[in-house]
Amino acid sequence: MPSPCCVPGCKSNYKSSLRAGEASISVFGFPKDEHLKMKWLKAIPRDKWAPTQYSVVCAKHFDPNDIICEDNYLLPDGTLTKIKIKARLVCSAVPQIFPNLPADLTKTVPLPKKSPDERNSEQQKCNELSNEAFEQLDYITNFQDLISNYSQKIVISDLWNVKIVGDTKLYFYTLNLNDPCITIINQISIDSDLHVKVFLKNNELSQNNLKWILPFELKLSRWSQLENLLTRYVL
Ligand SMILES: [Zn+2]
Repeated sequence: MPSPCCVPGCKSNYKSSLRAGEASISVFGFPKDEHLKMKWLKAIPRDKWAPTQYSVVCAKHFDPNDIICEDNYLLPDGTLTKIKIKARLVCSAVPQIFPNLPADLTKTVPLPKKSPDERNSEQQKCNELSNEAFEQLDYITNFQDLISNYSQKIVISDLWNVKIVGDTKLYFYTLNLNDPCITIINQISIDSDLHVKVFLKNNELSQNNLKWILPFELKLSRWSQLENLLTRYVL
């Protein structure tokens, strides 16, 4: 589950909000770049406070144009397809939308004025770097990395249950609780070599069914692939 948002007045991903039925929202950690981090801190209306490595800001505070949610994906037959990816920010993004602020914290945030050309070239440079950084962050090193970090790396619907068996298998499964006897509806299992199997109501999906997201021998290599699988087969 993503962490709660650190912006005052925002209840994104708070346990109370999730219990009340609100969907979890993508969050972003503070930038490593000190200059950009200062811009975030100036913008976020929270005084006498320093973020920790766990502090995050939710997607509600960013211009939607600054959030990248899909990526091009090359299928084995050479065609490009768009896939949903774990949301990330263009690298010059600064939070700027603060609804529901406590009255004493309300302030307007003047953003630095730049010419469109200046902004575009800066953005392009940033995006190239950001894509590279994203590729690295999106890469699953091995099965241990997967079981240790999946809950922080991706957004998972509460409908998925998780079972880890030793160091050999990770299962995500949804349950039908209405029957007198509980049954598994869908299941995604991942072996220690990151090989994936997907069962929808006991029917295993073929390699062909899964090549939209796992083009190479049904092997998982990216967090975004896992998030896509879990999003697509949740029901
Ligand atoms: Zn928020």
